[in-house]
Amino acid sequence: MSEVQIAVLEQTTEEIRKAKRREYDRQRHNTPEFRAWNRDHMRQYRAKHRETMRIYSREKNREWRAKHRERLRKKRSTQEYRKKQKGWGRDHYLKHRATYIEQSAQWQRANPERKYAIQTRYDHSARGRALRKVSIRRYQSSPKGREAMIRVSAKRRVTLKSTVATLTAAEWTDILAGYNHSCAYCGRNDRPLTRDHVIPLTKGGHHTKENIVPACRSCNSTKYNKLIIPPYWDKPRRTK
Ligand SMILES: [Zn+2]
Repeated sequence: MSEVQIAVLEQTTEEIRKAKRREYDRQRHNTPEFRAWNRDHMRQYRAKHRETMRIYSREKNREWRAKHRERLRKKRSTQEYRKKQKGWGRDHYLKHRATYIEQSAQWQRANPERKYAIQTRYDHSARGRALRKVSIRRYQSSPKGREAMIRVSAKRRVTLKSTVATLTAAEWTDILAGYNHSCAYCGRNDRPLTRDHVIPLTKGGHHTKENIVPACRSCNSTKYNKLIIPPYWDKPRRTK
C-alpha cells in the first residue's frame, strides 16, 4: 500500500470510530435518568456561576451590539418596531402597575419637598398648563362640576355668607325627573330649564334641593325676585 492509501484508510477508520462514539453517546444520553441528571447538573452549574455567566453574556451582548450597530439602528427606526416597543413598555407597566404606584407613593412620602418642587415645575410647564386647562374644562362641563360652579355663583350673586348652597348634580337630576323635565310654572317641556329658587336668594332662600324647581327661562325671568309658589311645590318629589 502506498502512503496515500494508508492515509485514506486511517482517515476512514477514524471517521468510523467517531460515528460509533456519537451513536453510543446519543443512546446513553437518551434516557430519562440521564436527562434528569443533566438538568440537575446544569441547574447547579448555573447557580454556582451565576455572576460569571451574567458578566460574560453582558459582555458578549455588548460586543454583538457594537458590531451590528448600523443594523440595529435601522431595525429600531422602523415604525413597526417602535409600535412593538411601545407595546412592550405598556405590557410591562400594566403587569407591574401596582408596584410602580406603590413605589412612587413611597418616594413621594419620603421626599415631600422634592415632590412639591417637581409638581410645581410641571404645573408651570407648557404641557402641565395645557393639560390642567383641559381637565378643568372637562370637570366644569360635567354635571358635578357644573353644579359646583352654580353653587358658588349662587352665593356670589347675593353676596350673602349665610346662603346655604348644597344642591348636587344628582339632586338636580332628581328634581328634573320629579317635574317630568317640565317648567314648574307653565308646564312646558320644550325649552331649556334653569334652576329657579322658589324663595329668592335675596329673600333668604337657599341653593338647596328643597328650594329649587326647574323653570323655563321666560318664567324664571318674569318671576325675578318675587315669591311665587309653583303648583305642586309641596308634592312629594319622585326620586331615583
Ligand atoms: Zn315656564
